[in-house]
Amino acid sequence: MNNNHKNNKAYYGNFGGQFVPETAMFALTSLENAYNEAKKDPSFSEQLNDLLKNYVGRPTPLYYAKNLSQHYQHHIYLKREDLNHTGAHKINNALGQVLLAKRMGKKKVIAETGAGQHGVATATAAALLGLECNIYMGATDIERQKLNVFRMELLGAKVVAITDGLQTLKEATTAAIQAWVAQIEEVFYVIGSAVGPHPYPAIVRDFQSVIGNETQQQLATLGIKPQHIIACVGGGSNAIGIFSAFLNDPSVKLYGVEAGGKGIDTDEHAASLTLGKEGIIHGMKTYVLQDKYGQISPVHSISAGLDYPGVGPQHAHLFQSGRVTYAPITDDEAMEALLLTTQQEGIIPAIESAHALAYLSKLCPTLPAGQPQNIVVNVSGRGDKDMHTVFSILKNEHYD
Ligand SMILES: *Cc1c(COP(=O)(O)O)cnc(C)c1O
Repeated sequence: MNNNHKNNKAYYGNFGGQFVPETAMFALTSLENAYNEAKKDPSFSEQLNDLLKNYVGRPTPLYYAKNLSQHYQHHIYLKREDLNHTGAHKINNALGQVLLAKRMGKKKVIAETGAGQHGVATATAAALLGLECNIYMGATDIERQKLNVFRMELLGAKVVAITDGLQTLKEATTAAIQAWVAQIEEVFYVIGSAVGPHPYPAIVRDFQSVIGNETQQQLATLGIKPQHIIACVGGGSNAIGIFSAFLNDPSVKLYGVEAGGKGIDTDEHAASLTLGKEGIIHGMKTYVLQDKYGQISPVHSISAGLDYPGVGPQHAHLFQSGRVTYAPITDDEAMEALLLTTQQEGIIPAIESAHALAYLSKLCPTLPAGQPQNIVVNVSGRGDKDMHTVFSILKNEHYD
């Protein structure tokens, strides 16, 4: 254990830091300074809050899911991030960072994207706020996600195809970091999850903490004390967003759900905390899925948003400290939960969010019977983007 990190704000316990080329250090420092100033400036939060309310549609409802509650015999509340403009929580962060870019006098933003959700959110914010926008995307993903590529282009962004390696999110992220370092004066790099070098994980968490703050207020208004909160974890932004308001209250149990893919006894999953080892990826020290030579392993999940071999450093710390319980959910379990939620509640969740919903079937049987507990599930996004995946699975396989 290295305790030197304990008082360093770039670290969460042993995790985080700034593992970047020297040229990027200057940009990270000026980002941190600009962000600290923005935080103190009431006009910045006024502008952001106005957009969150009138453009994104916040606050999102905290919905009592009566039928799921009946099914599980516990009180299930859904935090409806699926109702946000552009269909997921990612817009909360994209708007915050693009506003910050504008404040810093940047004319151009860049971002990486896997399935295209963060790309669409960034292109949306850039269109709204009048900045040039380049999105780095693996060529394989471009092929798989044609509709989102078209959306980004329609919004005025340029989609840059990356043809290295597996041509997916990991390579797109590396390319975006390189492009950023090459044009560090003019360009703002909008990171899509609570990952990357300090101060990004803190900035993304802060912009997403609106989810947890609203949830806390909504529960208080209802006079309800939450006992369990569940969220899915890709890089970890929607999870840390809802957890952050409750981290200091030990009576609230927190659960982060990773992609178990085809099973954690196979090589096809993205369970970075359950099976990863400490390592460095994309500028941070965290848990990384890697082989015995330290090479980053290929990952699999039915949901593109959870398909990442690392995880945000604060989650790595919360895992090590035991404050949050992390568990894998397989592709099949997520699909079952997607169908259950759709048929019981008339809400089609994103497949990512279905991982969090599936955890109800693990958690509820372990709770005392006859004493309904209050459980909040963060529904990070809506399922529209996943219809082609769901369709092709249901054609080959029958679910009851
Ligand atoms: C991108 C995405 C995720 C995963 O990202 P986090 O940073 O872990 O939140 C989860 N759900 C949806 C709907 C997404 O689009």
